[in-house]
Amino acid sequence: MEDCIFCRIAAGEMDADIVHSDERVVAFRDINPQAPVHVLVIPRKHLRSAFDLEGEDGDLLLHLFKVIRKVSEDEGIAGTGVRILTNVERGAGQSVFHLHFHVLGGRQMLWPPG
Ligand code: AMP
Repeated sequence: MEDCIFCRIAAGEMDADIVHSDERVVAFRDINPQAPVHVLVIPRKHLRSAFDLEGEDGDLLLHLFKVIRKVSEDEGIAGTGVRILTNVERGAGQSVFHLHFHVLGGRQMLWPPG
């Protein structure tokens, strides 16, 4: 998807503050952070949202969560509290249509979310 900004970040064609990169997953800091730690974890594979995941993506989904845990540990928030979320479609707040998990921490998270 050449018009997808997260595909471009994953391909190294667009700058980002990358905190993790491997053959299947990239993690980088959100450009508009909502908490002291706000990292986006994405698959290199272009999927529009979590609802595009299929059975063949089971290993990828597990790997995404392993990276989320590693990033949380590296950022020092794994033990204090981590909000992991993904928005699906505009009504939920999705603005970039490439599957990504927000990893937030470093402050008290509130509930309900806005
Ligand atoms: P969502 O609204 O759930 O689709 O999340 C998209 C997120 O991507 C937002 O939190 C944006 O701040 C973030 N974002 C958009 N463009 C970039 C970029 N070039 N680098 C880092 N984060 C970005």
